[in-house]
Amino acid sequence: MLELAPYAAQPERTRGRRHQEPPPLGRNEFQRDRDRIIHSTAFRRLEYKTQVFVNHEGDLFRTRLTHSLEVAQIGRGIARNLGLHEDLVEAIALAHDLGHTPFGHAGQDALNECMRGHGGFEHNLQSLRVVDELEQKYAGFDGLNLTFETREGILKHCSRDNAPSLGELGARFLHGHSPSLEAQVANLADEIAYNNHDVDDGLRSGLISIEQLSQASLFSRQLEEVRRLYPVLSGRRLIHETVRRMINTLVVDLCRQSECNIAESAPIDIDAVRTAEPLIAFSSAMQQEQRELKRFLHANLYRHYRVNRMSSKAGRIIRELFHAFIEDVTLLPDEFQARAKDSRARAIADYIAGMTDRYAILEHRRLFAIEDQPL
Ligand code: MG
Repeated sequence: MLELAPYAAQPERTRGRRHQEPPPLGRNEFQRDRDRIIHSTAFRRLEYKTQVFVNHEGDLFRTRLTHSLEVAQIGRGIARNLGLHEDLVEAIALAHDLGHTPFGHAGQDALNECMRGHGGFEHNLQSLRVVDELEQKYAGFDGLNLTFETREGILKHCSRDNAPSLGELGARFLHGHSPSLEAQVANLADEIAYNNHDVDDGLRSGLISIEQLSQASLFSRQLEEVRRLYPVLSGRRLIHETVRRMINTLVVDLCRQSECNIAESAPIDIDAVRTAEPLIAFSSAMQQEQRELKRFLHANLYRHYRVNRMSSKAGRIIRELFHAFIEDVTLLPDEFQARAKDSRARAIADYIAGMTDRYAILEHRRLFAIEDQPL
């Protein structure tokens, strides 16, 4: 690892874990967090959770697992350039989507709707719930007992209503403070990863075309460059050469702009980072291009009628599961029935949110199909 900047997070100076533990041997505190995340059940389930395309729609599309790995890779590269702690960025990146429901945003929206009146459902908060409570495998505590810094990075957003119940972690949303630079890097690495892989997956699926995408200047600039260098290139190679340049352009821009912001603000340590405005940012020109690309993806990919059809089915599955369990709690597995004694709706939301796409489809069949189904 290159030398750490003074404003980087430092594992020896962590604000600690919720339950005290002896320091790790042979690895630092953030590496221990990362290792615990990789060994968690929720992490393995990411393989079968949708990013945009449902798992069974094709083997080549991103899943939440490959998405998280891409975020970690992009984030580590940025962290290294800026003298930030790579291990912390990696831990946050690998954990950032642990709380996602099956079926991507369609699943989250449906579950949030079902949970209206019961505190709502928000995947960021759920990611934190997974690492703080729902993983149950350690003798001394529930959850993974991660450091404050990793948990701070996982909780990317939080409403002012929910913030007070989250103690030290929620305080920054009430005071308008920033998280560590490592958390800011993980957040923007997420954005770089999904915009670009959604372009790639969108083209692979045939739902959008290269010609359409040329409306977005971030794409067309790189496409022109590739065509200039390789006039006869086509198909997958043309797409990949374009997308890899888009990622690189974004990463380089982000590093340059962030270096300027850091130099200007000159935080002396991580506490100064937390009271400053967010310093990890794209240049304003790049922000505009990113917005243009996002608008394109929203209009042409995320709201494509074939994606809408899957989202509509996904929403129906989530709603029907939720209502079946709310009406008759004895349909829940024993472990969740026990938890439902405290809060029925929250226990059901935890159960549903933990499902993979295919588990949710199977569970729906088990509850609703009349023909013979495995129990
Ligand atoms: Mg993500």
